[in-house]
Amino acid sequence: MPVSPVVSISAKGEARLRRGHPWIYRSDVTDADAEAGAVVRVIGPNQRPLGRAFFSDRSQITLRMVSREDDDLDERFWRARLESAIAFRERLAIDASAWRLVHGEGDLVPSLIVDRYADVLVVQTLSQGTERLLPTFARLLTDLTGARGVLERNDPRVRGLEGLEQRVSVVLGEVPERVLVHEGPVEYEVDLRHAQKTGLFLDQRENHAAAAGYARGRLLDAFSYHGGFALAMAAGCSRIDALDVSEAAVAQIRANAGRNRLPHVEAREANAFDELRRLDKAGARYETVVLDPPAFAKNKAALEKALAGYKEINLRALRLLEPGGMLVTCTCSYHVDDVMFAAVVHEAAVDAGCQVTEVERRTQGRDHPVLLGVPETRYLTCLILRKAA
Ligand code: SAH
Repeated sequence: MPVSPVVSISAKGEARLRRGHPWIYRSDVTDADAEAGAVVRVIGPNQRPLGRAFFSDRSQITLRMVSREDDDLDERFWRARLESAIAFRERLAIDASAWRLVHGEGDLVPSLIVDRYADVLVVQTLSQGTERLLPTFARLLTDLTGARGVLERNDPRVRGLEGLEQRVSVVLGEVPERVLVHEGPVEYEVDLRHAQKTGLFLDQRENHAAAAGYARGRLLDAFSYHGGFALAMAAGCSRIDALDVSEAAVAQIRANAGRNRLPHVEAREANAFDELRRLDKAGARYETVVLDPPAFAKNKAALEKALAGYKEINLRALRLLEPGGMLVTCTCSYHVDDVMFAAVVHEAAVDAGCQVTEVERRTQGRDHPVLLGVPETRYLTCLILRKAA
């Protein structure tokens, strides 16, 4: 007999589930008697059993579906889910020692993120449901991967929507101050406790490699972080300017450039908006430019301003580019999809008085799978463009 608490949803909610979307909003919940973070049995109109979900008593997203079966979830269930995500990455034969092992909804474990950095795992539990299971996840993941330690980087602000505190701590085993990983031929030292995100922008790994294939001449990498694009592209370039507004990031670019013996990488602290304008006025020119800013549109209300920001930096970058030069330009705002982004870059090209061809339209790496029907799981666009000669 199932023992999970029961939550009932409306016909509209049920229709959404049938289309494969795992989220049920508060307005579609008709009856709920469950504790924060419980795994609940979901029932549609006429007592139809719909499966199991995480329940939140705080978020507008009240339910996150985990299973469409009417069975309680035991440890065997979770082990199989995690094992499947881990096994998929093994099949990808990733040329790196850091990658995403579990991508939340994209791996059918909603609101759980697990990144692997060599023999250490970094987890984020972004809802009450995964928060409650954190000790179980840590134990199973350690068992399945042989990791020496598990760190929770539970400092994203979105946890506030679930009433969860921000916290960074070792959950299991030991986690060194710094971990050494490689991405293709490039080595990175990562401070997992203090770096942005979980340490590196793992979602760009395949785009770093793709961009390296077009690297040439002078390169400007305007939002460089730890040098993800700059260092991957360095072998093909004569000189590299890597910019970041964060002092800590710039120090890390320098350290990584030294570690990888790339003396032609010059890192400096700058606000890219100001610096792109300054370089343009000063008549600087580049054969290759990379733009990978943080998400400008964090919500729908910020969309218009975000699009203006994307247009501004892309316009400057196109002006800085020599004819025939390559622009690698990215957005990681979920609210700006690839079609919208290409249109903004086109507007920038019109204003810059140049024509641009699209060479590649890329997205996040394959270890960040997109679940069809769930647009929230696809958030990254990377366009590789050529300025007409
Ligand atoms: N390209 C990197 C990831 C970049 S993340 C990689 O592939 O690894 C975005 C970076 O932009 C962050 O490091 C952040 O510090 C930086 N940033 C944010 N606002 C900025 C600004 N106005 N000018 C320059 N850098 C900025």
